Amino acid sequence: MINGSTRVYGIIGDPVAHSLSPLMQNRAFEAYGLQCCYVPFQVEAAGLPAAVAAVRALGLGGVNVTIPHKERVLECLDEVDRSAVLIGAVNTVVNRDGRLIGYNTDGAGFLASLQDAGFDPGGKRAVLLGAGGAARAVSLVMIQAGISSLAIFDVIGSKAEKLAADLAPVAGCRIVVGELAGGALRAALAEADLLVNASPVGMFPKHQDRPPVDPRQLAGGTLVYDLVYNPLRTKLLSESAARGCRVLSGAGMLVNQGALAFELWTGRRAPVETMRQALEEALQG
Ligand code: NAP
Repeated sequence: MINGSTRVYGIIGDPVAHSLSPLMQNRAFEAYGLQCCYVPFQVEAAGLPAAVAAVRALGLGGVNVTIPHKERVLECLDEVDRSAVLIGAVNTVVNRDGRLIGYNTDGAGFLASLQDAGFDPGGKRAVLLGAGGAARAVSLVMIQAGISSLAIFDVIGSKAEKLAADLAPVAGCRIVVGELAGGALRAALAEADLLVNASPVGMFPKHQDRPPVDPRQLAGGTLVYDLVYNPLRTKLLSESAARGCRVLSGAGMLVNQGALAFELWTGRRAPVETMRQALEEALQG
């Protein structure tokens, strides 16, 4: 029940109506009986600075930030965590007594979901499709987790080159870049231990009908991780599973990035299974 002492959290994005975060976070607040609520805020690009100022002025506990604001929001904050600076994107803002601090829980959420699946990226050869915001977050944590090589493929290649250049100072491994349409992709797929799709290909409703790469080019032992979570079983995942690969959907990353945001806001351990259940009900229902 909302009353005079309810602490408000939310998500800023455009579009935002499709977001499953309100469902997950409200279920988590309920699980602890916290006097908190989480609401969606539709914010256009031009309104971002005013929306962030309103987080401070209205005394919100914090917000998640999603497309298209994750990069631009950095300049509106009082402080940004080092990993979020390296990634170049913030997805979680914490209001600490009027100071707004930005974090990125996408990468750590991805890593936590790999750990949940019992996969250690250390020493593994990784192939990444896409070089946008999600790709930047997962590539940094894969490097920090000790992958032995990273091959980044994107539509044109220019974003991938910029990402590789940004990662170079912190990378202890070989990074190569290429175009999705180029010949280098086939060789990289054949050698990959881990394939991560960080492109929107496969996502409902526009890009569902084809996988971003041909899974027949993968070796059977590859772990295929699709950051897309709607649908839960993308073409990439079903065709890779048929090829004998282990597969993971983006739902695990979504739950874990939300759990980490919850922990930053409340200082409590997130009820991860409750959050996962809320998400699965929504995606399967
Ligand atoms: P983004 O910043 O727009 O980046 C998308 C990347 O994919 C860009 O490099 C883009 O290249 C490339 N791309 C776009 N259209 C493509 C196509 N038709 N074929 C191949 N590549 C294409 O988006 P994002 O925020 O990184 O999100 C990427 C995906 O990850 C989305 O499906 C999103 O739902 C998912 N995601 C999941 C989670 C989770 O928690 N599971 C979290 C964040 C994102 P150009 O820019 O050169 O076109």
